[in-house]
Amino acid sequence: MSEAVQIIGAGPAGLTAAINLKRAGIDVVVHEQNKDVGLRFNGDFQGLENWSTNQDAIQFLSSVGVSVNFLCKPYSELAVFTPSGKRHLVKFARPLFYLVERGTTETSLDCGLKKQAIATGVEIVWNSKVDEVKQGNTVVATGPKAADAIAKGIVFSTSHEDAAITFVDDRIAPKAYAYLLINGGKATFATCLFVDFKNERSYFEKAFDRMQKLVQIDVRSPREFGGFVNFFFKPATKGNRFWYVGESAGFQDGLWGFGMRYAMMSGYLAAQSIITGKSYESLVQKNIEKILEVSIADRLIFSLLGNRGYEKALSILDKLEDPIAWLRKWYNPSPLKTAMFQVAKRWYRTRLIDKQCMHMNCDCVWCRHGNQPHGHSMEQMKN
Ligand SMILES: Cc1cc2nc3c(=O)[nH]c(=O)nc-3n(C[C@H](O)[C@H](O)[C@H](O)COP(=O)(O)OP(=O)(O)OC[C@H]3O[C@@H](n4cnc5c(N)ncnc54)[C@H](O)[C@@H]3O)c2cc1C
Repeated sequence: MSEAVQIIGAGPAGLTAAINLKRAGIDVVVHEQNKDVGLRFNGDFQGLENWSTNQDAIQFLSSVGVSVNFLCKPYSELAVFTPSGKRHLVKFARPLFYLVERGTTETSLDCGLKKQAIATGVEIVWNSKVDEVKQGNTVVATGPKAADAIAKGIVFSTSHEDAAITFVDDRIAPKAYAYLLINGGKATFATCLFVDFKNERSYFEKAFDRMQKLVQIDVRSPREFGGFVNFFFKPATKGNRFWYVGESAGFQDGLWGFGMRYAMMSGYLAAQSIITGKSYESLVQKNIEKILEVSIADRLIFSLLGNRGYEKALSILDKLEDPIAWLRKWYNPSPLKTAMFQVAKRWYRTRLIDKQCMHMNCDCVWCRHGNQPHGHSMEQMKN
């Protein structure tokens, strides 16, 4: 391959593709619109989920060519508060997730991937916003374009011990959950919404109140963060020279928004497709698409649960010997899930596509979303 592969976006998807291509001897140039990686985030904690497949997330990282040179801490206990205020402590035989940090700090996943890419010899061009690539092989890794779910939260310092706590209640996190993740004196608290985005501030305030009533925690130097996730199904290649990866391809867990694994997996698969000439569509179909379809069917079920359903689900979880195995079953493809997916995809529409905001002195979800200008800016590349 004579020309370098252009990679647009230095998130987990783009950098994983870059690392694998460069290791295989293919030159790549990564264009990142911001002056550094991770500016869409603010030092908030995220979970690298460890329940949807048998493979442990650490093995997964190694299988997609990523080394662990960032904070990646296993959490095997989750406290869940149901709408009645009851606390359920769920213990798992293996880590439920690995906590990682997102943003520009040295220990973040974003910086870790950047260091691995640079050490492999990848060229990254900063402050390079690319809206069109006229020729050559191109990996599009620009992140979400629209909001199917949003999160609003704070990061803060605390003396509370490390913990992972979730709150389910449609009055504070409609059709989703609020979460509190604490590690080494730093904490992230956020509420997620799958509907009713315009009332995000009021949901956040109610969620924060609830959290403070139920958890004895000191909140010091809080800073706001927020964001959105996007899932959809469209062909992941275009014109034999575009490979769409990560959330710009709609690869995102439809159930709860855990998209990092899919981002890195798809970056790896796009690289394999370019290196070996194998069809990316087939690789995606085999490794990603089925599980995403199931997650959209699960979203439909979750949306129907309501507060009574959350209480019931937690009382089931309490009695299980191996809750991870139970969670994994939710991601298993089956004829029933395929049928439900057909219903779910008709019922489910992307909730918010930004059409009107002029983004001046504005507090909308798009404008609060780190330094990234606007999630819909790359729409033209796909259409
Ligand atoms: C608040 C929040 C909490 C989350 N929590 C979790 C969690 O706990 N677990 C989990 O697995 N997932 C979580 N996610 C989802 C996860 O962050 C994403 O799925 C993942 O970051 C997607 O990676 P990506 O590489 O596809 O896109 P991104 O991480 O968005 O990276 C895209 C990059 O492309 C750049 N870019 C965009 N347009 C251009 C352009 N035109 N030119 C050049 N560069 C461009 C952007 O600046 C950015 O750096 C969360 C998301 C949010 C918003």
